[in-house]
Amino acid sequence: IELFPIKELQQPLQSLYCLPLAARKKFIGACILGSLRSNAFTRYHKDFMDTLMNQVSVVIDNAMLHGRIRDLAHTDGLTGLLNHRTFMDKLDEEFRRLDRDDRPFSLLLLDIDHFKKINDEFGHPVGDIALKGVADIIRKTARTVDFVARYGGEEFAVGMVGADSKGAKQTAERIRRTVEQSVIIEKKITLSIGVATFKRGDSKKDLIAHADAALYYAKRNNRNLVSLYDDIDDRDALAIPKK
Ligand code: GH3
Ligand code: MG
Ligand code: MG
Repeated sequence: IELFPIKELQQPLQSLYCLPLAARKKFIGACILGSLRSNAFTRYHKDFMDTLMNQVSVVIDNAMLHGRIRDLAHTDGLTGLLNHRTFMDKLDEEFRRLDRDDRPFSLLLLDIDHFKKINDEFGHPVGDIALKGVADIIRKTARTVDFVARYGGEEFAVGMVGADSKGAKQTAERIRRTVEQSVIIEKKITLSIGVATFKRGDSKKDLIAHADAALYYAKRNNRNLVSLYDDIDDRDALAIPKK
C-alpha cells in the first residue's frame, strides 16, 4: 500500500512507526510515521506520539460523534431525508441567494395518492415500507445539488437549485413515472406532484403556496399527475387547501 502519497516519501522507508487510534474501546484509525533514515525513531518519539495520539483519538471521536448527532437532528429517522425544519432552513438560505443570483430555482411538493388506503389495507408497517421506498426513488432521481425532504407524513419536498420550470417538470415526471412503475409493496403506489418556479418578488411563502396549489390541482385531476403552477389556467382563483 502507498502509505504516503508524497513524492519525496516514495523511496523505500527505513523506519516505520504505526499506532492504532482507539476511543471508547473502538478502533477509529491509525497513525503512521515513516522516515527515510533507519532507526529514526527513539523512545522519546514513541512516547511523545503515544501521548499525542491518545489526545487526538478523543478529539476525532468527539468530532465524529458530534457529526452523527447533527445528522440525526437534521434528518428523518424513517427515510433518512432532511426533516421539515431543516428543509425550511435550506429554503431560507436559498432565498437569500436568489436575491442576488439569476439562477432559477424550483420547488416540488409530492404527496402519495390514497395513502390512507395503504395503511388501512396492509397496516402501518407496510405503509412505512412504502414511504421508505418512495423516499429512496425521490432521492435517487433528484440531482445531487437538489435537497430532498420528508415534508410531512406522506409528503415530500424537493428544492431544485438551478432548475427552471421545464427542468423541474422533467424531474418530477421522471419521479412520478418511476414510482408508478416500481414494485415497492403489493399494491401499486402513485404520487401527485406540484411544481412551482421562483419568480422575482416571490417570497418563500408564495413559492410554497404555488407548489401546494399545483399539488392540489393534481389531486383534483385524478392524481398520479405532475402539475405546474404556471400551467394552471385559473391559478389565481385556486383555493389553497388548509393544512
Ligand atoms: P390523497 O390522495 O388525497 O393524498 O389521500 P391520502 O389518503 O394519501 O391523504 P391523507 O393526507 O388524508 O392521508 C395521509 C395518511 O398518511 C394519514 C396517515 O395515517 C398516514 N401517515 C402519515 N405519516 C405516516 C407514517 O409515518 N407512517 C405510515 N404508515 N403512515 C403515515
Ligand atoms: Mg397528504
Ligand atoms: Mg396523500
